[in-house]
Amino acid sequence: MFTDSSAIPDLLNAFEETAREFPAEIPWCVDLGPKQSKFTTVFGAAIHGNETGSLPAVLSILSEMAEEFQSLHGRYIFFVGNPDAVRAGTRFIERDLNRCFNLTDSATLEGKRSIELSKILAEADLFIDYHQTNQPAVFPFFTFAYHEESYRWAAHMQAADHFVTRDMKVAFSSEGLCGDEWVRARGKSAVTLELGRAGLSHSAFQTTLNSLRRIVGFIETELSHGRLPAPAKPASGEDLKFFQVAAKLPWTGDEAALIEGFENFQFVNAGDELGQMSKDVKLTAPVSGHLMFPKYPKRNADGKPVEPQGGDIVQIVQAITAHPRELWG
Ligand SMILES: [Zn+2]
Repeated sequence: MFTDSSAIPDLLNAFEETAREFPAEIPWCVDLGPKQSKFTTVFGAAIHGNETGSLPAVLSILSEMAEEFQSLHGRYIFFVGNPDAVRAGTRFIERDLNRCFNLTDSATLEGKRSIELSKILAEADLFIDYHQTNQPAVFPFFTFAYHEESYRWAAHMQAADHFVTRDMKVAFSSEGLCGDEWVRARGKSAVTLELGRAGLSHSAFQTTLNSLRRIVGFIETELSHGRLPAPAKPASGEDLKFFQVAAKLPWTGDEAALIEGFENFQFVNAGDELGQMSKDVKLTAPVSGHLMFPKYPKRNADGKPVEPQGGDIVQIVQAITAHPRELWG
């Protein structure tokens, strides 16, 4: 089992070797199964370079699938999103790749890569994008705008039972489109799964591998019976738990800071102290709920963030009691 970051170069080499055997039209991409298949699934790993946790499981399923590639009914494309950032151990090199998909930026490394990846994503009937969070998470969770078919795929994966969702009309970030948003905008299914804290771990391996096997197994069964793969609505007892953003706490400047140690999905009560907005002003939770994407930027000796900050220092999500289908379906 690979759980040590020293395994990363070997993982990349193993992926490259598989990509030589089953090449796609772009680099760092493996294309398996019949090109004329009625159903193409794209699996994304490490669109953010430090989020490597899905790579070992991707290699495991690739070695399983490579043995029987001639009998596959579906087409399966796997990519390593940002291999340069994986090597550097950083989220990105020049700009966030997962905010580039509606741009045509050929001036930056990530801009160019998003143009390449768009060619692959344009083939997708289903896109599963594996991510991880900077801080630990109490459990893995899905996060994407509500889209009925995508949600059914998420529920079918059994990789998480918490789903942070929103109206499709609301963009995830004002910077630019994520890969999954770009695919859903084309009317196809796309799921983003957050596996937990960034990096290799046994739990990320197991969650990814189980979900890959469930997805591939289901698609193969359906196609071999002449049906287009489309998971049924989950039974009400097996449904996901739905959450939406209730508060976004903006980054208020260089002195803004959270109390150390917050995790994704940690519960806080309204009024709880979360940190400081500035030296003299406390940051408190405006509502009760679960913390989402708490930000702890690297700081220099004076406490100033090493990189320019913006957006939110943390968000708070709350459970939705109605089914999102009724709200935004
Ligand atoms: Zn990510």
